[in-house]
Amino acid sequence: MNYQPVVIIGSGLAGYAVARELRKLNTEIQVIMLSADHGGFYSKPMLSNALATGKTPASILTSDAALMSSQLKITIRPFTRVNTIDQSGNSILLENGENLSYSHLVLALGADPIRLLLSGGAVEEVLSVNDLDDYRRFREALKDKKEIAILGAGLIGCEFANDLAISGYQVHVIDISAHPLGRLLPEEGGRYLQDKLAAVGIRFHLKSKIQYIERIGSRYRLIFEEGQIIEADLVLSAVGLRPRTQLAEKAGLYVNHGVVTNRYLQTENTNIFALGDCAEVEGKVLPFVMPISHAARALAATVIGTPTPVHYPPMPVFVKTPACPIVVSPPDPIVIGEWQIDANQDGVKALFQDMAGNLHGFALLGAATKEKNAITPQLPPILA
Ligand code: FAD
Repeated sequence: MNYQPVVIIGSGLAGYAVARELRKLNTEIQVIMLSADHGGFYSKPMLSNALATGKTPASILTSDAALMSSQLKITIRPFTRVNTIDQSGNSILLENGENLSYSHLVLALGADPIRLLLSGGAVEEVLSVNDLDDYRRFREALKDKKEIAILGAGLIGCEFANDLAISGYQVHVIDISAHPLGRLLPEEGGRYLQDKLAAVGIRFHLKSKIQYIERIGSRYRLIFEEGQIIEADLVLSAVGLRPRTQLAEKAGLYVNHGVVTNRYLQTENTNIFALGDCAEVEGKVLPFVMPISHAARALAATVIGTPTPVHYPPMPVFVKTPACPIVVSPPDPIVIGEWQIDANQDGVKALFQDMAGNLHGFALLGAATKEKNAITPQLPPILA
């Protein structure tokens, strides 16, 4: 019998999903959650539509660490960073020098915002938002500001742009791609989205690359590689995330784009698991909420003693751009096929089919989003 605790590193949606699933299956097992941040529970997706929905950083926090600890009957240690994993000793070393043993270790470490390599004296002042503390800083910085430049026209960039624009800010969005949501939408969908976002006042600078950011008084000057110049009161970077793999890599665990796991969410060390934004499960890095729920359920069952592989059904993602409702289920990049597009002024229905006509993904915009429930069951599972 192993009396060491299950240790979860990370108090994001992934860490808490595992803690909840463990408690559903077993009320006795000792669980310790360690978090580099405040350790409270909040829904991260709310950050990119909080202005329009009237939420503040304080109201986004659902429960603080103390409340979560008493609800879930687990020990939560906020502001406790893990520095090293000792695989052979089944223990971890904390930043404060303390050693902690585990029976099972769960890595729910999240991801770091990618920073563009830019020059200029104000590069360090560019903000990014990937957690509640970032968002608090962002909201503080927004006070008395009018014009915001967003680097990146991906999902997070478009959501923040829409939220800011409908809340009265002037918004610029800069991206090297030819249309917004370039990785999720076919061209027709991107153009439709761009038109809808432009209609709420968002100004796009596409096929453009920022090179230099400097401060001019209380404002920023952004200089493009192509020579164009814009000014803004605040610059927000939303150019993507990189899974936090350093801790696993330092411990000698296999890392590719994320911390590599099998279908059981196990790394090559069968007592060390990973899920959420830091993980690469069977070759897939899926930085969204739905995969976390499925992974947490399987992981908890395995830890309790019933080895359970994760199954991912189709998991469409809603893009929170109220100016242009969107739901997407991107095809697996290894599938060869093409988009079938049905576009009109009310929306775009794009279906990605392989050469045999089988459906592998979709992008539905505007009125076409209504078809999501009818189309989703026709998709293959993401992990059968
Ligand atoms: P995180 O929430 O990043 O948690 C990581 C945790 O690990 C943190 O508590 C951190 O402190 C801790 N940690 C890291 N390193 C250490 C260490 N060494 N020691 C101790 N603790 C450590 N997904 C959707 O499906 N739909 C949406 O609409 C959507 N909207 C989004 C909007 C925004 C603005 C953002 C940023 C993301 C959005 N996502 C959305 C993605 C989704 O929110 C994430 O996939 C999910 O929240 C990731 O949870 P996580 O627990 O893996 O990571």
